[in-house]
Amino acid sequence: MFELARAAPAKQCTHMMIEVTTEIGGEACPFGKRIMELADRLAQWSESPDGLSCTYLSPAHRSVAAEIAALMRGAGLLTEIDAVANVVGRYPARGQAAPALILASHYDTVRNAGKYDGRLGVLTAVVVAEHLNRLGRKLPFHLDVIAFSEEEGVRFSSSFLGSRAVAGRFDSELLERRDAGGVTLAAAMREAGLDPGEIPALGRCREELLGYLEVHIEQGPVLLDEGLPVGIVGAIAGSVRAMITVTGTAGHAGTVPMGRRQDAAAAAAELVLYVEKRCAQAPTLVGTVGQLAVPDGAINIIPGRCELTLDVRAGDDVTRDAAVSDIMAEIGRIAARRGVSFDCKEVQRAGAVRCSPRLQSMLADAVARAGVKPRHLPSGAGHDAMMFDGLTDTAMLFVRCGNGGVSHSPREIITAEDADIAARIVLDAVLRLAEAS
Ligand SMILES: [Zn+2]
Repeated sequence: MFELARAAPAKQCTHMMIEVTTEIGGEACPFGKRIMELADRLAQWSESPDGLSCTYLSPAHRSVAAEIAALMRGAGLLTEIDAVANVVGRYPARGQAAPALILASHYDTVRNAGKYDGRLGVLTAVVVAEHLNRLGRKLPFHLDVIAFSEEEGVRFSSSFLGSRAVAGRFDSELLERRDAGGVTLAAAMREAGLDPGEIPALGRCREELLGYLEVHIEQGPVLLDEGLPVGIVGAIAGSVRAMITVTGTAGHAGTVPMGRRQDAAAAAAELVLYVEKRCAQAPTLVGTVGQLAVPDGAINIIPGRCELTLDVRAGDDVTRDAAVSDIMAEIGRIAARRGVSFDCKEVQRAGAVRCSPRLQSMLADAVARAGVKPRHLPSGAGHDAMMFDGLTDTAMLFVRCGNGGVSHSPREIITAEDADIAARIVLDAVLRLAEAS
């Protein structure tokens, strides 16, 4: 058996006070309060005692899966943990032969994470299903609440493992990926009692699905700045990621004249500044060098090698690809001028995803009925919803993120009021969809 690590309770953050009150059945903010309480409960399981870290198949991750499964069962859902450790709960339709509407997000986290990234979407879906079950309100479609096991890509440097499997896009080569300790994904899965051989059977097909809806914290400041509790995602940015190695010539820091150097780090620095300048030229375009290292560097050695990463995203692929191609051209110029060589290996390319106009307008109606101005905004971050593009209609509802919009940080906060509004909007949209089906 594995050891269970229970972290010290997370420090209390001050909630931003927002003037929205919600009353259902006499109690203010019932969905929101429950979501906040459940998010606190899930955050107790962590790999480290001094913050929230919950990476794929760690003991904490398995404990969270068990806790979510118990929650789903308590909410009246037919629940199982599938072959990639997704927790899947079905609120069954009136009839057997019905398509499914998926309400989902992920329960893994980055290291030193906030409590709401991913989990807000899972818990919103759970409270909505719980409410329908309490009312005994049956739908003409199955409501599949899914807590995806892996989205962040922390342990195996491959993201969306959970949603990839459900969308039928899990490539078996992924099973050979190794974590920092050399453990393959396949071995980690077997050790957790999962059978990688069952993954292909998890893939859903178009005919089985009615749509996919994900609630997620915005992870940015737009809704906060505009005083809106929620927003409707119009498109999810696609990204290109590359690992770049610059090779120059190592030399003595004291003896090689400045004009005779092939300094790999200086060449990399030029590239970093170019990425920053070029990616500031279009509204949804962003570019980041997130890792930068001089392997075997020393204070008295001219860097002979430098390794860096590149991440470029935009709301549309044309804008992004134009930036990437300019960056590659600049790499050529820097190499020629400085006498260094660059090796660029593209490690990921994901196209931008447009959310379904039909579901967006349905969400916008539900947002307006909740008394909130419908605001459409793009997502700069990738989300599980992307995996369902082309398979079924997808939509996302963003929830305002406090503290200036910070996420992937213990400072990440939302309010119970905003969570409550999001849950009511999802419930409303589900019921309208039921009427229309
Ligand atoms: Zn997330």
